[in-house]
Amino acid sequence: MFDKSRQQQGAADMASKAKQGKQWSLKDFEIGKPLGRGKFGSVYLAREKESKYIVAIKVLQKSQLLKAGVEHQLRREIEIQSHLRNRHILRMYGYFYDAKRIYLILEYSPGGELFKRLTQKGRFSERTSARYITDLAMALDYCHSKHVIHRDIKPENLLLGAYSEIKIADFGWSVHAPTSRRNTLCGTLDYLPPEMVEGRDHDEKVDVWSLGILLYEFLYGFPPFEAEGHSATYRRISRVDLRFPSKPTVSHEAKDLIRRLLVKDPSKRMALQDIPSHPWVVANTKKV
Ligand code: AMP
Repeated sequence: MFDKSRQQQGAADMASKAKQGKQWSLKDFEIGKPLGRGKFGSVYLAREKESKYIVAIKVLQKSQLLKAGVEHQLRREIEIQSHLRNRHILRMYGYFYDAKRIYLILEYSPGGELFKRLTQKGRFSERTSARYITDLAMALDYCHSKHVIHRDIKPENLLLGAYSEIKIADFGWSVHAPTSRRNTLCGTLDYLPPEMVEGRDHDEKVDVWSLGILLYEFLYGFPPFEAEGHSATYRRISRVDLRFPSKPTVSHEAKDLIRRLLVKDPSKRMALQDIPSHPWVVANTKKV
């Protein structure tokens, strides 16, 4: 079972080993059940033999990474994710490799994919959405303070921890700010801000936009600029063609926050630090 104090001690042991630059190998772990499959390999539950700490190990096939030409991206992901320390960012303890594979040692997130939860439930309540959005806003603010832009915030890249706390899991598209036009058109179109679909320079404000898309999707069950085909989605994003259907019912205050996040001019988007004091967030994160 998931033992809290043992996990905490194990986490501290893993962190200190990582800090000392430990060279990990497969022999340090007992490998358990598969947790899921990604584009370049699989993720397994695993236990570090010495500390008994439960982790997730992502196994990536070198041949597939080379074929897709994403080695550089993976290097950046490891460099960025292994240096971030935040309760709402999935911790990366380290990595190792053999002739065929690369292994990433990750914090285990027992709640699984947020996307799956959202699909099962259809949509989230205003209380749940407010908590997720505030936690993400604070985690992204932390990233930005380290000059890291995530650029790919969407339900597929979010996991849930042992206490249903949200965790940003995938830094595959993240970059060190500032960034230029070269890096446009990555990720799903639905979540991209106008400046990225239009191929303009962009900065950390792209993450504020995707938080607005995410909040809309949490409350309605689908993203706001969905359309038939790429060019129709592109046009809706570029015009900020934001519509609120009458069903399901969503409060005016929640819509107000969405409108403040989905602003075409990046410099006029709400600051991440102001999200926790927005009246809708305050009302919905109050302890009952
Ligand atoms: P990915 O290759 O990152 O897309 O991961 C594939 C799947 O494995 C995800 O969709 C999750 O269901 C699962 N998974 C990945 N990382 C973890 C983790 N740290 N803890 C628990 N499950 C995970």
